[in-house]
Amino acid sequence: MDGLRAWTEIDLDAFANNLQVVRKRAGAGVRVVLVVKQDAYGHGAVAIAHHALRCGVGAFGVGSASEALELRQAGIRLPILILGTALEEELPACLAHDVHVIVHSADRARLLQALASKAGVVARVHLNVDTGMGRLGPPPHRALEILREIDEASHLKLMGVMTHIASPEGMTDPASVLQIRQFEEFLAQAREAGVLRGWIHAANSACLFTGAGSLYDTVRPGIAAYGALPATISGSEELIPVLSLRTRVVFLKDIEAGTPVGYASTWRAPTRTRIATLPVGYGHGLPWCLEGWDVLIAGRRAPIVGRLSMDYITVDIGHLAGVQVGHVATVLGRDGEDQLLLEDMARQSRCIPYELTCALGRLARVYKGGEMIPLPQQAAVARLGDATGAVQKHSHGQAWMEARSGAESD
Ligand SMILES: *Cc1c(COP(=O)(O)O)cnc(C)c1O
Repeated sequence: MDGLRAWTEIDLDAFANNLQVVRKRAGAGVRVVLVVKQDAYGHGAVAIAHHALRCGVGAFGVGSASEALELRQAGIRLPILILGTALEEELPACLAHDVHVIVHSADRARLLQALASKAGVVARVHLNVDTGMGRLGPPPHRALEILREIDEASHLKLMGVMTHIASPEGMTDPASVLQIRQFEEFLAQAREAGVLRGWIHAANSACLFTGAGSLYDTVRPGIAAYGALPATISGSEELIPVLSLRTRVVFLKDIEAGTPVGYASTWRAPTRTRIATLPVGYGHGLPWCLEGWDVLIAGRRAPIVGRLSMDYITVDIGHLAGVQVGHVATVLGRDGEDQLLLEDMARQSRCIPYELTCALGRLARVYKGGEMIPLPQQAAVARLGDATGAVQKHSHGQAWMEARSGAESD
């Protein structure tokens, strides 16, 4: 199994912590539509969704019909919203499985009305108003007439109105404030016309961490739940990285000064040293330009030297004693006191955290934690006093069960 060579480790307790941070920022009573598109940004959509619903998430946002159906097949009964646009041929399946779809045009509204009435169901739809993303959805001046059509259609039910913020800086960017202002104007018109219903949503992670809360009654965070933010935004310290990347030493090689290592011989040993070969490479989702990145072996740093291969990286461990074949190496995540952050890897390889976790999604995954659900039952447990503190800190399954049964019997 490939998981024995290189794998991602998904920390469900860190994820639960982040959801709690997100919910606190969103404010009481605000619906969290957790975004799990692209296999939950490479964290595994089914496992993440199951844990998220235990933690009190209200709905899920996916990228495509097949992602929505995957969750339905896995037994997820909560509302699922396709954030982008479904293909025409996917719509009947979306309707059959009660998946919320977003309407970006009058044509799509009419098609959905026809399909839904033919199938004898009601299509649950949201309207996406384009206030500056420039990708999907009508501009505000065209959106009201679509909303009216939805309102009059016998087999369409308006579940929400949304817009999407373009700036990674969230509400600190004047462009985002302008987008929200346009959205507000549209909402006022729709309200006046008596056709505004359902959830109102705009905030993604960046907005949640830079605005004064949720903006509206529903938020759509993704990356924050996975422990990162798209830009340097204060408040990110509360988030805990969810994904670690681990592999094992498969070979050790002592080389003389001047020996080349890797494709194109771009690196030569400056002195006699020892090279550890690790079976993970750009074919597993690492950025090709990651040379120089430190990995952790037994909590100590060692740099990647030479070019990355498709399946391997080479690490200079000349300064580390005691490394043996089979030892676990951490390419991303914590090992002992030290930690390698996603944001740093993204910065070094000139990409974004989203791209990295998505790419690493092709590796085998190991889930850890998840015994403790900090939400929403925590309120009941918190009354138990000292024992509960231990439960919250250590997330120990057994202690949790005991505390939980205590809470239920009082
Ligand atoms: C991906 C996505 C989000 C989540 O964005 P994050 O930056 O990960 O919080 C929200 N809304 C839409 C429409 C999206 O496509």
